[in-house]
Amino acid sequence: MQPLTTPREKGKAQPYQVKQEGHKSQKPDWIRVKAPVSKGYNETKDLMRKYKLNTVCEEASCPNIGECWAKKHATIMILGSVCTRACRFCDIATGMPDKLDPHEPERVAEAMSQLGLAHIVITSVDRDDLPDGGAEHFAKTIRAIRQASPETTIEVLTPDFLRKEGALEVVVAAKPDVFNHNLETVPRLYPTVRPGARYFHSLRILAQAKELDPSLFTKSGLMVGLGEDRAEIHQVMDDLRAADVDFLTIGQYLQPSPQHHPVIDFVTPQQFKSYEKMAYGKGFLMASCTPLTRSSYHAGDDFAKLKEKRLAASC
Ligand code: SF4
Repeated sequence: MQPLTTPREKGKAQPYQVKQEGHKSQKPDWIRVKAPVSKGYNETKDLMRKYKLNTVCEEASCPNIGECWAKKHATIMILGSVCTRACRFCDIATGMPDKLDPHEPERVAEAMSQLGLAHIVITSVDRDDLPDGGAEHFAKTIRAIRQASPETTIEVLTPDFLRKEGALEVVVAAKPDVFNHNLETVPRLYPTVRPGARYFHSLRILAQAKELDPSLFTKSGLMVGLGEDRAEIHQVMDDLRAADVDFLTIGQYLQPSPQHHPVIDFVTPQQFKSYEKMAYGKGFLMASCTPLTRSSYHAGDDFAKLKEKRLAASC
């Protein structure tokens, strides 16, 4: 996960603001989503409060929260709610992070077993302040979930563990089913969009995760609408295939506040289709490319398809 620049009231999903002079100010029809009101939504919210858990769904003001939470699918954000980086697209608070809560892994495991999901996604803020970047906390959380819900498959969406020697190995050794790390954007835009990260380092940890455990499924995601062009997206797809990444997600970037990076373009659904076709052409086992795709959107259904596709490819 990445940073945030504007602390928001916790627990309140707020509407996106894409209005900024000189940039796209109107969300097109294909971006509109329903307000988050349903019995399932409220039950998920109550459970998150009861176990004092942070979710990226709320902290990053995800537009899919109404749909996902109605189905009891939430992405838990561990290691606190404050990030040590300051990416220009991200709505999670930046600053001095919270003290590590040693009981968080058990609380996550308990909440997840109550949700009774077949597949769960765990992510975190960046913790550059910790010697291992939070890797052991990830591993403890994976182990606690395995113990509480042995049938549940686990997807981790991790930070880049930049300059944290041995951190990736700790996470992979805990045996998640899916290792996800988002590249977020094309390399040219890293200095402005993701200044604390390094494109080739992020690519490398995806390749390394698969080298460490070839049975892992690897996954990465991109946001479009930040000023990239098609050729750059195609190049990133080639880079990800060279790193043996299985699953690519591409979604529309939405500007969380006027202080964040502006939306340069709203990519049309037809263009997303063409990215998806291109991704399959380049050999990804799975590609999910739609305006509202987020890395954890429909992650459970997609994981089931991913497993089937690997099996079919090996026959
Ligand atoms: S897409 Fe992911 S982050 Fe957004 S609401 Fe769904 S589970 Fe949460």
